[in-house]
Amino acid sequence: MLSHSLMRTASCVSRALSATRAFSPRAPARRPPASRASSTAVAASMAATKRPYPIGTPGVPWTDDEKKQWRASVESPSRSYQEEVLAKIEALRGPNFDVQRYGSLPYDESDPERFPLFAVFTKAWDETRPSVLITGGVHGYETSGVQGALAFLNSPQCLNFAKVMNIAVAPCVSPWGYERVQRWNAEAVDPNRSFAKSAPPPAREAAALMRLVNELGVKSWLVHIDLHETTDSDESEFRPAKAARDGEDYEPDVVPDGFYCVADSKNPQPGFQKAIIDAVRLVTHIAPPDANGNIIGEKITQEGVIEYPLDDLMLCASMTGAKYTSTSEVYPDSPNASAAECNKAQVACVVGALEYVVEKEGLRR
Ligand SMILES: [Zn+2]
Repeated sequence: MLSHSLMRTASCVSRALSATRAFSPRAPARRPPASRASSTAVAASMAATKRPYPIGTPGVPWTDDEKKQWRASVESPSRSYQEEVLAKIEALRGPNFDVQRYGSLPYDESDPERFPLFAVFTKAWDETRPSVLITGGVHGYETSGVQGALAFLNSPQCLNFAKVMNIAVAPCVSPWGYERVQRWNAEAVDPNRSFAKSAPPPAREAAALMRLVNELGVKSWLVHIDLHETTDSDESEFRPAKAARDGEDYEPDVVPDGFYCVADSKNPQPGFQKAIIDAVRLVTHIAPPDANGNIIGEKITQEGVIEYPLDDLMLCASMTGAKYTSTSEVYPDSPNASAAECNKAQVACVVGALEYVVEKEGLRR
């Protein structure tokens, strides 16, 4: 069950706890985008306006027709999964990586292969070695999660780590959302609230990824890092949309300016999280806590780190039960962070995390 504070939090993960989204500043906007105003200004602006969401009746959960109305409003793609993601995945086939299709999403009735799902594996997968999972694009609009995962695969560090561990990467878990710069999938379901272990996952994206992970048969995952962003559009669109969908009131929150990560409160691994923060701070700034010592409504446990009970919330990072888990949250709307820097921050997160694990677990390279 979610605490009140969790229900109000603002990040991509917390939205996963309770939310949905629709438009990023890069997407065609139904309402004025947050642009690059300060996060505080964004929240203040929303608090001042707090207009009813344009779909549905305030206080009443959406009907199926209203979910279809929402989908129609966001159906036009604003970027190409084929060009920006699949082409880069195909280019990885060769001596260093295996590429596996693990399903497709049936969101285009005229073309069932419109949204194929792919994972990339380092060669010579060896069951006797530790296994690592990296996921990106669980929220399709969070661009650096996708491009950062691909950038890590193309980094020299990846091949170096592959000497002592198996690495599986699912770079774009939610391709429909990637093309439309959307948080929800086509059925108005948040994939990062859908990694259910005791019931059928409510999002096709989560179900497909969980099936792939089960089929791999890894007895004990060592690491899972799930790459995300927290954006101004969380407050300008996605949280208001989520509140409208669920018939709830939207309570504005503040978007933190900088990187942070989310640990599992049941297995926080503080040294692992610190290694991530220390690696990322060399690329981009770490989010400061607010006046109450919080980031997105949660007390920080150390600089740039908050904790959630990941499996209770059915978050992606809970999927493997890995010894070391973290969810990255890059802030792409900072005036001080370019898209390239955001991708580098995601790579730094993964590399810093794996360097820590190699040292801590005594893995020889
Ligand atoms: Zn996210």
